[in-house]
Amino acid sequence: MASTPHQIADNYQQVCERAARAAEAAGRNPADVTVVGVTKYVDLAQTESLYKAGCRDLGESRPQSLWDKAGAWSTPDVRWHLIGHLQRNKVRRTLPFVSLLHSLDSLRLAETINAEAELIDRVVDALVEVNVSGDVSKHGFAPESVETFLQQVATLPHLRVRGLMCMAALEGDTEVARANFASLRQLRDDLSPNLPATVALTELSMGMSGDFETAIEQGATIVRVGSSLFA
Ligand SMILES: *Cc1c(COP(=O)(O)O)cnc(C)c1O
Repeated sequence: MASTPHQIADNYQQVCERAARAAEAAGRNPADVTVVGVTKYVDLAQTESLYKAGCRDLGESRPQSLWDKAGAWSTPDVRWHLIGHLQRNKVRRTLPFVSLLHSLDSLRLAETINAEAELIDRVVDALVEVNVSGDVSKHGFAPESVETFLQQVATLPHLRVRGLMCMAALEGDTEVARANFASLRQLRDDLSPNLPATVALTELSMGMSGDFETAIEQGATIVRVGSSLFA
């Protein structure tokens, strides 16, 4: 994808306006929705254009791309989000760059992150990825396993769960996406009364270019938008 800085700024503004309108339509405060600009399709120059357009939350799905971009470009006020699967052997190189990990998907990964974060004296913020659609190709916990995982992760002092993340079904229309997003929110509501003290489920990361307005309607606090910004 190749877009001019001007197009990128225009696209970003439009996505932010659409997100704000979706929040208002749902009776929510637009300030409670963060747009993460997903830069996995583009090079550093276009990523910088998005930053200059005002986007301070940037997302990559591959750890290697996160290292390359965040490492080549020291911009203190960018918050980098890792939105794709993180292998345990890539945790050490990834942690210094990442503000929020959206893809916490196993206890073994949580334990590795906790150990590595302790070494660099950090507490890492993360979202628990939930496979609400049941697609076999997807990472993430089955909804019924999340409660047990939260009890386990609560014992790891260098990892702090801030919420839940999901993707809508690969196959499906807006109604399917809406049902998937509603089930993530319902899971959050069901778990919230009995959370361990160190766990919060404040954030719901759900919605991409094709369905972010539906996700906001269903309570998303973070949407992850890529292709709409660089079309
Ligand atoms: C690529 C990606 C996105 C962005 O998708 P678009 O449809 O391009 O907006 C969001 N979330 C995840 C996990 C992704 O891998």
